[in-house]
Amino acid sequence: MAFELPDLPYDYDALEPHIDAETMRIHHDLHHGAYVTNANAALEGTEWADASIESVLTNLDALPDDKQAAVRNNVGGHANHSLFWRIMSPDGGGEPGGALGAAIDETFGSFEELRTALNDGGVKRFGSGWTWLVWDGTALSVYSTPNQDSPIMQSDVPLLGIDVWEHAYYLNYQNKRPAYLEAWWNVVNWPEVEREFASAAG
Ligand code: MN
Repeated sequence: MAFELPDLPYDYDALEPHIDAETMRIHHDLHHGAYVTNANAALEGTEWADASIESVLTNLDALPDDKQAAVRNNVGGHANHSLFWRIMSPDGGGEPGGALGAAIDETFGSFEELRTALNDGGVKRFGSGWTWLVWDGTALSVYSTPNQDSPIMQSDVPLLGIDVWEHAYYLNYQNKRPAYLEAWWNVVNWPEVEREFASAAG
């Protein structure tokens, strides 16, 4: 079964004023849409055509040499954006609770410390990429990745990722990536991140 572009779980303008409707439309329909189209084209006719995101991204070396870059970029892009839409909400913001909130306090000291680390990773990521909170199998961890590289490639479970490609913010924030990152926390969907954590670490 080929990959499919998931519907946005809210309207294009639902995250305003923090993320504008035109950015959401272009980002979801055109950028994510292209990752899905290109991922399916790269895998078509290979034994990986019906494989899961996880099995493809943890076995890139097993793919034909001339497919690896396209698969890494486009299956990675599909994985990253499929999570990104879900972990945002028009009712977002606030602080994490439950087991995730406790684990964040234990690992990073406080939610503020985590937020600073994630923003810092996003600001320092040169060019395009993502800043991540992941479950590495035994603990929470924060790091950034270039391009569309997914934490799944190193067998980590992405719990929260912020897209810092210019296409994610440029219409509204131009070169002010730190302002976008600050605003992003108003739309974070903690209940969904908490579900991801429970599923990964439970
Ligand atoms: Mn993006």
